[in-house]
Amino acid sequence: MSPEEGFAGARRSMVELQLRARDIVDERVLAAMERVPRELFVPERARDHAYEDAALAIGSGQTISQPYMVARICELLALTGRERVLDVGTGSGYQSAVLAELVSDVVTIERIPELAERARRSLAAAGYGRVDVRVGDGTLGVRERGPYDAIAVAAAAPGAPDSLYEQLKRGGRLAIPVGDRQSQRLEVIVRSPEGPAVLRSVPCRFVPLLGEEGFPGAGADLSEGPEAGEAF
Ligand code: SAH
Repeated sequence: MSPEEGFAGARRSMVELQLRARDIVDERVLAAMERVPRELFVPERARDHAYEDAALAIGSGQTISQPYMVARICELLALTGRERVLDVGTGSGYQSAVLAELVSDVVTIERIPELAERARRSLAAAGYGRVDVRVGDGTLGVRERGPYDAIAVAAAAPGAPDSLYEQLKRGGRLAIPVGDRQSQRLEVIVRSPEGPAVLRSVPCRFVPLLGEEGFPGAGADLSEGPEAGEAF
């Protein structure tokens, strides 16, 4: 069996055991998760662990999200194919790749330049070179590419940043883990004419969203991160 066949088998098991078995029901999301080669988004020495039911360290104190959380966020965004999506917290680029399987236009922003550069390379190697990777404070969004049909945030915030809500189209959805640094709930906030409509989903644990409209601490040494390896 070639390494590719091995990874493909591991990917199928991931979809069945980690996603379908936990009530991910959107067939487009399941198909996307079965297509994206997650092993290309983890550090080389961790390739054999790529399909484990966990977040993995990717350097700079950050993690590639657990497959289940990636699928849950994508499902909550209710995407159908022609949307423009903003992915805040690029990290490894894996979530952006899954989003690129689901919609035609993906913009992503990461605050740590080294991670953004590596994600750009991984995305190109996996065939998702059309994803627009930006470096900067994603709590402020990427205004010049908006408005967005959906925004996914893969880091924990004390509340949904106003700038992100304002960059949603009418009826657009923002998925974001909201809580303190230790534990959060995934929230989906819909932009409606009456103001934000909030729906709460699963409990979760993400690395913090650091920035002007996130947790303080973004000015600190970027190479340091006490949260390494412990979040979803
Ligand atoms: N979905 C990514 C998850 C990465 S973890 C993946 O599957 O690989 C969250 C990422 O958010 C980290 O890389 C962290 O550096 C980044 N981040 C934290 N605060 C940010 C901010 N204000 N703007 C952009 N990225 C941020």
